[in-house]
Amino acid sequence: CSETESKSVMGSTSRQLHVFFFPFMAPGHMIPMLDMAKLFTTRGVKATITTTSLNVPIVAKAIERTKTRGNGVVKIDIQTIEFPAVEAGRPEGCEATDSRTTHEKMSTFISSFKMLRQPLEQLLQNHHHPHCIIADMAFPWAIDAAAKFGIPVLVFNVTSVFSASAVVSIGQYKPQMEVSSDSEPFVIPNFPGEIKLTRMKLPNFTGNKYVKAFFSDLMKEVGESEVRSYGVILNSFYELEPAYANHYTRVCGRKAWYIGPVSLCNKDAEDKGQRGKESSIDKHECMNWLNTKHINSVVYICFGSLSNFRDSQLMEIAMGLEASGQQFIWVVRKDKNEKEDEDWLPMGFEKRMEGKGLIIRGWAPQALILDHEAVGGFVTHCGWNSTLEGVTAGLPMVTWPLFAEQFFDEKLVTEVLKIGVPVGAQQCVEFSGNDNPIKKEAIEKAVRHIMEGEEAKEMRSRAKELGEMARRAIEEGGSSYSQLNALIEELKALHS
Ligand code: UDP
Repeated sequence: CSETESKSVMGSTSRQLHVFFFPFMAPGHMIPMLDMAKLFTTRGVKATITTTSLNVPIVAKAIERTKTRGNGVVKIDIQTIEFPAVEAGRPEGCEATDSRTTHEKMSTFISSFKMLRQPLEQLLQNHHHPHCIIADMAFPWAIDAAAKFGIPVLVFNVTSVFSASAVVSIGQYKPQMEVSSDSEPFVIPNFPGEIKLTRMKLPNFTGNKYVKAFFSDLMKEVGESEVRSYGVILNSFYELEPAYANHYTRVCGRKAWYIGPVSLCNKDAEDKGQRGKESSIDKHECMNWLNTKHINSVVYICFGSLSNFRDSQLMEIAMGLEASGQQFIWVVRKDKNEKEDEDWLPMGFEKRMEGKGLIIRGWAPQALILDHEAVGGFVTHCGWNSTLEGVTAGLPMVTWPLFAEQFFDEKLVTEVLKIGVPVGAQQCVEFSGNDNPIKKEAIEKAVRHIMEGEEAKEMRSRAKELGEMARRAIEEGGSSYSQLNALIEELKALHS
């Protein structure tokens, strides 16, 4: 490994730390891990991304600008590991999840990743001996692989601290077993705040009838790995969820560092516009469209990288948006077909919405859009990255959780931070939703709630305050800045 001398941010001259970053191959995991790697390099740490060959182009694109920037920023390398021959049901050519992935495929996909343990060990054995590996929570086995070489592993838990601790409490006390129906509320035990949930809202891993046993096993392994690992890194900042951060360390017993929002390492429009996939809309066209709008007058609607709603749900969204009277940018994962009107849109919708609403089919430059002053509200599925990006942009949110930990994040946004209103989703669903769509009336009401009136203003003002706190957290002297420095110093001390 590289043992060159470098100047650390703290001004002291010390051995250069080399960290391997090992992201899970889904945008919601890969994007924050790559941002995190960039953040580490700003402190003089050498970063190497470890991924499979089909994912190399995505990683290479994301780090392209760090290569040309210079200015003393340490460059990021890529090390490729190969999947053994296609087996264990992993579809050929499939080394990443996207909106075509089903829950079924996802569990096979995650299991198949265990096959990467041997190639990872080979890589570590051959010539690369980093000081530390930051591994996605979906790879709990990485701890044992690295232990063979005496390399500490930090687990990257991609959720909020609130969710990470709620999962621990529910796993430990199993309150869902004490209620008599799937819709009867229970309080999360031994957990700050009176947070009520129902079995129907539990992520598909905590043991209800919507559970796939696989996720249950994986989450158990994740919990154990958090305890066995060197510690846990989370993309959050202390001031956002202090009660839960304290709970996570003191009660759940995790050694944790809160170093986010990592998305803020992208300073200029080019960097912000380059996260994840290639944008389906010309970024300038999108910004120009927003430039013509008044401040806080546009609502942005996006459900992350995996959801792919059925036509019946898209139709309700379109009707709800039109009825709300708001201007909007709506991201839909559907290809444009030849017909003038799409099957999933009300007749003449696009014509009526000309100049008022923009539909992005495919991938949106989300970070750029959220940061634009014309955007005044966010309808989100509560994936943690999107939620935190909404907080960072200072936006009130309509919460529309679909699956995984998203119902927890809804509680954080609406009941703890009080910067959002629920659309009324009651049940964990597949990536494509279910046969029981959220109705246009509920969508209209929730959208108006965050865009119009006194309550909207109050929520926006609280959200703006949190957004400023987020910025302060990552600046010199801020909590995330200091926690990252402390972590780096600790890792250096391990090897001195
Ligand atoms: N994202 C984006 N454009 C899109 C959809 C998603 O840039 O059209 C980004 C979004 O900014 C976030 C990530 O993809 O950083 C999605 O992660 P999240 O945790 O919100 O949801 P997931 O996709 O994991 O459900």
